[in-house]
Amino acid sequence: MKRIAIIGAGIAGLTLAHQLQHKAEITLFEKSRGVSGRLATRRLGEFEFDHGAQFFTARSNAFKQFIAPFIENGIIAAWQPRVLTLVPGQKPYRRDWFEPHYVAVPRMNSLAKALATELDIELQTPISSLSVVSDGQWQLRTPDAEWPETFDWVISTAPVIQSIALLGEHLSAGILADDKALQDVQMSPCYTLMLGFDQAIKLPFQAARANDNSIEWVMVNSSKPGREELFTLVIQSSNAWASQHEEADQDWIRQTMLADLEKLLGTPLPPTTVESLHRWRYSRVEHALEQDCVLDWQKGLAACGDWCLGGRVEGAFLSANSLARQLAHSL
Ligand SMILES: Cc1cc2nc3c(=O)[nH]c(=O)nc-3n(C[C@H](O)[C@H](O)[C@H](O)COP(=O)(O)OP(=O)(O)OC[C@H]3O[C@@H](n4cnc5c(N)ncnc54)[C@H](O)[C@@H]3O)c2cc1C
Repeated sequence: MKRIAIIGAGIAGLTLAHQLQHKAEITLFEKSRGVSGRLATRRLGEFEFDHGAQFFTARSNAFKQFIAPFIENGIIAAWQPRVLTLVPGQKPYRRDWFEPHYVAVPRMNSLAKALATELDIELQTPISSLSVVSDGQWQLRTPDAEWPETFDWVISTAPVIQSIALLGEHLSAGILADDKALQDVQMSPCYTLMLGFDQAIKLPFQAARANDNSIEWVMVNSSKPGREELFTLVIQSSNAWASQHEEADQDWIRQTMLADLEKLLGTPLPPTTVESLHRWRYSRVEHALEQDCVLDWQKGLAACGDWCLGGRVEGAFLSANSLARQLAHSL
């Protein structure tokens, strides 16, 4: 069997590994302590927060088919919150969602954990570089050492800048119809503020889209299916605001978002029990490659992820699914 190294255990890396697991010997390398990437959950004491993707939609048949068994076994459920649009100083108005919005249950990283079962995953193992050894085999390096085994294929599912840093110099010329296309892919940052309270706050919504300040979404995280009863809010900044303030003092970011939240709600917040801010350097794909994946048959290198097709969780799945199908024929 061919040996494949997959860098990154987010939804793209896990989809790929899951779909190729009986066709090749696969090792996933993940720099973090757990799987799931940006489909993330953080625990702070008794409180849990989905601090990355909030929900996802399923528009393609391939993704609908993929999630169907997980809906069946309760790992994915539709979330039907009351949704409002909030504008500072104005009366909120109701929004309707015209398609199902899904979440993993009981926390966003549950889907990744289900996919990860029985896969060979090296956690806390950042891949820093690769090089060719004999017979076109690839050798991976972590910051501390060379990985002892070599691989026929190396596939990066890291965000675009990290994927280019790893694979760029090794790709055959002409792999991309237009090399500039890869340079043009853009991802924007986002700040997530997590707030946990001892007592529930009465709010007229479970999800609110905000306009005209630092905040884009306010989610009552604890209102999603299967969550703990402790009341939690997840506040996400707009990507444009996060881009403007990417290097700003974190305490200023936190205070600005809290003040903007109180303006949106039109009332002061009760004291929080836990509070934490997370900066996502690569959150949303602003400009995608518009190509399913990057695939270099000659060198045994490939890359996929949400930055290829955009479209977020579903886009990451579709990119990995396409790459898995193309590779499956040759394995
Ligand atoms: C704040 C926020 C809100 C979002 N909201 C939504 C939403 O509401 N709906 C939606 O559909 N999508 C949303 N998204 C986007 C969605 O989360 C992503 O599109 C999707 O999870 C991307 O999956 P991926 O596998 O392509 O990448 P990732 O999840 O980023 O996975 C890549 C993995 O590679 C690992 N990695 C990187 N470099 C290395 C290395 N050198 N060595 C080893 N491992 C490495 C990373 O740690 C990571 O785990 C949101 C994202 C964020 C951050």
